[in-house]
Amino acid sequence: MICIGIDVGGTSIKGAAVDEKGKLYERFVLPVDPSCTQNELMSQLIDMTRNYINSHDFGEKVCGIGLGIPGLIDSTNGIVTFSDNLRWEDLHVAELFEKELGIPTKISNDANAAALGETIFGAGKKYKNTVVMLTLGTGVGGGVVINGKIFDGNCGAGAELGHTSIVYNGVQCACGRRGCLEAYASANALTKQTIEAMEQDKKSLMWEIAKEQDKITGIVAWEAEKKGDPTAKKVIDQYISYLGEGILDYCNIFRPECIVLSGGVAKQGTNLTDRLVAYCEKQEYGYPRAPKTEIKVAELGYDSGIIGAACILLK
Ligand SMILES: [Zn+2]
Repeated sequence: MICIGIDVGGTSIKGAAVDEKGKLYERFVLPVDPSCTQNELMSQLIDMTRNYINSHDFGEKVCGIGLGIPGLIDSTNGIVTFSDNLRWEDLHVAELFEKELGIPTKISNDANAAALGETIFGAGKKYKNTVVMLTLGTGVGGGVVINGKIFDGNCGAGAELGHTSIVYNGVQCACGRRGCLEAYASANALTKQTIEAMEQDKKSLMWEIAKEQDKITGIVAWEAEKKGDPTAKKVIDQYISYLGEGILDYCNIFRPECIVLSGGVAKQGTNLTDRLVAYCEKQEYGYPRAPKTEIKVAELGYDSGIIGAACILLK
């Protein structure tokens, strides 16, 4: 069984054939030309997908095309309701692909597709009941997979895990609400917290590390903490408590078997996950009798978007 997975990003679109064991074939890449209209870009993408399929002998028929797309996605009807990154609006993606290529096509929000990929082939593959994934990057994306299926609410507009509140009337979030997890636990938020702490402590090692790295990013505090800087430790401890509060909410709502973390911050590995486990453990409802939730780092890496998109039809 072969499906084409397509990971749609704001600057480039990557795709590849994926088989039912998660094996990835040669990739194709379409750069996103911002001067193209949504219909022009769609027809470029459909042509590229057609050429890719025709130029490969997969030994069997391609039985589906899955696309993971950022934004508000009506997965039931295959329509991109609105994508801020791509400036797409009311775009009937599944219908266009099916009409031109004659292959069943499904779409999903990119974070949801990535969560499905991790559940089927990555860090969540041992778990059958519920897996929650959080992507800690520029923002906080999320996905929930229940019994092997994406849970994405009415018209695919749910599971916006980054926009649940952890602080009443807290920091302003880009979505318009205050106190969202995204405003506290994204890589961008960690950078802001790092800058604030550096301003308060001109002697912190973080200044030296930021200079070495030529800029202040979310990594600065982690590196300085490893070298024993107390201000950096405060930044990281506080960050762990913000993210931990979000994770506790998802434990209490979904009682997942596993929470998978991806994105830049997740590169800290067990230094991140062990501390989150320690923070969350005793505060979970029903501790110690409630079923335990594992916290793991994502495993699929660079190709997670492609594999996740293919999984929409492979599952
Ligand atoms: Zn928000």
